[in-house]
Amino acid sequence: MVYQAAGNRYDSMTYRRTGRSGLLLPAISVGIWWNFGGVDQLENCRDMLRTAFDLGVTHIDIANNYGPPPGSAEETFAQIYRQDLAPYRDELIVSNKAGYRMWDGPYGEWGSRKYLIASCDQSLKRTGLDYFDIFYSHRPDPDTPLEETMGALDHIVRSGRALYAGISSYRPEMAREAARILKELGTPCLIHQPRYNMFDRWIEDGLIDVLGDEGIGCICFSPLDQGILTNKYIGSLPGDSRAVKLDWGDRLPREKIDKVIQLNEIARERGQNMAQLALAWTLRHPEMTSALIGASKPAQIEDAVGALDKLEFSAEELARIEAILSA
Ligand code: NDP
Repeated sequence: MVYQAAGNRYDSMTYRRTGRSGLLLPAISVGIWWNFGGVDQLENCRDMLRTAFDLGVTHIDIANNYGPPPGSAEETFAQIYRQDLAPYRDELIVSNKAGYRMWDGPYGEWGSRKYLIASCDQSLKRTGLDYFDIFYSHRPDPDTPLEETMGALDHIVRSGRALYAGISSYRPEMAREAARILKELGTPCLIHQPRYNMFDRWIEDGLIDVLGDEGIGCICFSPLDQGILTNKYIGSLPGDSRAVKLDWGDRLPREKIDKVIQLNEIARERGQNMAQLALAWTLRHPEMTSALIGASKPAQIEDAVGALDKLEFSAEELARIEAILSA
């Protein structure tokens, strides 16, 4: 059946400006790191991306190595794009990245010009897209001059392979320096993609201020700590959970689950579930453009978008959350 996107898809989604750029992103974005690989059910992947787009989630995040196997999430995306989303290309923001190991030999990872440009070309081929909206340096490379990595991003944008440049997991000082180089080259840094959630708050120690100063947007990955910041692990271990699939179920930290149990009570009082509380909490920073979730089922995407119905926090709620997290 031909997919027809929901006519009301723009009625209730919140869009936020990405730093001081012209680009608006949905406050909830969807990434395809897990659950979109060659090993996963295409129909479920298709349902998830259709559900997302129908809810106004216009941003899909990919990387060269997503799968498993690496590269297969891009191929899954390509099939869904061809079947369902191609008519909506101009309504979509698709990002891609290079930085982690993708192929053998010295040119298959990190931050060289050689790797970034070759990887971007491979990713365009695998996804079937003519261009990406955002292309990221996926991780800082301690051994390649930052000028080279940023120069590669600038080239990727100038050659039409991507519209905007981004960086991921760069520490504050390096992010500032990357922004300076990109500005000089004439391709401003659009966005930073760091890991951020209630249990991993490193960006509060300088990075968020750098992004505010420089007018760079922020999209946080793993805002649910890969599912720990939901109510799914409060009871027994669900067989279809990421913890079981990736075999870290027996290493779930008890102290985190104890905190989730307490946080869940605050969520309940706010009329939200745990996942929604965790997402709203990441979005409380004005610098936070979007929370980048993962999902294994369409209902999880609906849940995440539901978080946007209540983003405000009282000072008392924030203090209670702080007390639980810092205990
Ligand atoms: P999350 O922290 O959102 O975890 C996603 C997982 O949480 C889902 O797979 C699901 O687990 C569970 N979940 C989601 N919603 C719910 C819900 N409502 N109720 C119960 N469980 C829920 O994000 P990810 O760690 O998946 O990362 C998100 C995206 O960020 C990636 O897809 C990728 O695009 C990007 N990313 C970027 C990185 C970088 O270096 N730049 C690194 C890692 C990710 P289950 O499968 O158990 O159902």
